[in-house]
Amino acid sequence: MNILVLNCGSSSLKFQIIETDLELFEKNEDKQKAKGLIERIGSQSLVTYQATGKPAVKQATPLRDHRQALDHVIRWMISSEAQIPGIHSLADIHAVGHRVVHGAEHFTKSAVIDEQVIGGIEDCIGLAPLHNPANLKGIYAARELLGGGIPQVAVFDTSFHSTMPETSYLYALPYQLYRRHKIRRYGFHGTSHRYVAFRYRQLTGKTKEETNVITLHLGNGCSACAIKQGESFDTSMGMTPLEGLVMGTRGGDLDPSVIEFLAHKEGMSLSEIDALLNKQSGLLGLSGLTNDMRDLLDEEREHQDRRATLAIDIFAQRVKKYIGAYFAELGNVESIIFAGGIGENSPTVRRRILAGLEWLGVETDDNLNAKITGGKEGVISKESSRVKTFVIPTNEELLIARDTVRCVKDAPRRW
Ligand code: AMP
Repeated sequence: MNILVLNCGSSSLKFQIIETDLELFEKNEDKQKAKGLIERIGSQSLVTYQATGKPAVKQATPLRDHRQALDHVIRWMISSEAQIPGIHSLADIHAVGHRVVHGAEHFTKSAVIDEQVIGGIEDCIGLAPLHNPANLKGIYAARELLGGGIPQVAVFDTSFHSTMPETSYLYALPYQLYRRHKIRRYGFHGTSHRYVAFRYRQLTGKTKEETNVITLHLGNGCSACAIKQGESFDTSMGMTPLEGLVMGTRGGDLDPSVIEFLAHKEGMSLSEIDALLNKQSGLLGLSGLTNDMRDLLDEEREHQDRRATLAIDIFAQRVKKYIGAYFAELGNVESIIFAGGIGENSPTVRRRILAGLEWLGVETDDNLNAKITGGKEGVISKESSRVKTFVIPTNEELLIARDTVRCVKDAPRRW
């Protein structure tokens, strides 16, 4: 089956076309056929398309909204210019898989989209006011342009974490606030943690029950997950993606009293503080330079910039702290797995995170660590290390495509 995977942001649309079915999935032979990105929807948009194995095509064109953007994608996909093998008309797209950020307690797994599922995603808007409306725009656009004959599936960032016990997901606030407003930890990056844990099982031959690992998704957004017997037991992001690790522009864990203090001292409104915590903190806030880890590492190397070093050190120490906490919670950690732009590409940051963990049985092989970058997969711990350390490039789109196939198989057409 050819699956169109869509990831819609407030002014962006990312897509991939992936050929997969239950057999290709079992053999790990799924094929990415094309990918692309449209940015700045709503003004002069920047469009990048790439059929696999061919050069990327870039253009600028005005696109009013997500519907127009998706229309543009579809026209390119089936055009003779794209020449995507097996894609000649709309009939060659067999299903659509959407990334949806927040599923709250409504969705514990991926779901074929119907009116009820749309209602459930709408109900979660209060918890993800920036993300869920954008995801819904993608769903409406796909429904309008592709019609009811093509099934669509919602894959939630939160659903992998629905297995967390109450002791992990409840905040120690008055309990009635959980009852009344569902204030709790939900966790995010679930598709990434789940993909990486599954790939780890493929690589090691472990069963789900034997999978007790810590997965670290370190990209522009960062989160850690304690996986017990193949299921999420605890994770660092909370009710929103703001909690936990230091990220590109989010600071992660913070004493909540800072918010009132800031309001008084800086005369800031709640929404200004929210923007400060989400967009001006983290690596960017600490360094005063950039949210991009690569640039910080360059600054440190070339100019010995003190605040660049400080930002990287705080980033690494926070990850180390969560690793320690998850060792304590899981008890028998057998592996630590790095993923995400930083986790997959930066031996330096990985080394800084893992330094000093030898007493926990984590021994890093510096040669292996240096070699595994740029999308490579492999072990970076010493042969003698009791706890193994892996780098496993994440592939959220592939997991969305595979879930879509699983959900639509036998599912009745519902609109
Ligand atoms: P992601 O959100 O997963 O795309 O990750 C983006 C982050 O990965 C940015 O902070 C990048 O600077 C970082 N990154 C990508 N490549 C490298 C690299 N070679 N070394 C260090 N950081 C990198």
